[in-house]
Amino acid sequence: MTTDHQIFEHLLMKAIDQQLNAEERQRFEAHLVTCRTCQEEYQDFKAIKDRTDTLSQRIMQDAAGIPPRERPGARRLVTLATLSIVAGLLFLIAFAGYHLALDPQTPLLVKSAAALVTAGGLALASHAFYQRARAHRTDPYQEIDQ
Ligand SMILES: [Zn+2]
Repeated sequence: MTTDHQIFEHLLMKAIDQQLNAEERQRFEAHLVTCRTCQEEYQDFKAIKDRTDTLSQRIMQDAAGIPPRERPGARRLVTLATLSIVAGLLFLIAFAGYHLALDPQTPLLVKSAAALVTAGGLALASHAFYQRARAHRTDPYQEIDQ
């Protein structure tokens, strides 16, 4: 019985991908008829495979067609959510940094590390905002919308 199951485990994925040769198929199907557990497992995997096949087909169709127009406001929502997360993070970092700096127990090394992280983060953020502002000004779609 164990050998049957071992054979089944080995053949299952091949069967799902329809890669069994005639002899393997025969052994596989012979075991499937006698074993309910394996039958259900095979059916589960088959269902998953069919589903992912359908999904990837749909994705290919979508990719081939014209991309659906973004719902108005969706972009603004993403921007607002991003801004709110960034602002919240900045507040948290500022709060932590403030208490870290004030606490006399904080080692100088940790204070220096925090200062470096803050400086680097601010530099990256201002760079990102600068790039974004430049892109915003030259975005042709932006002018049409206005
Ligand atoms: Zn079995």
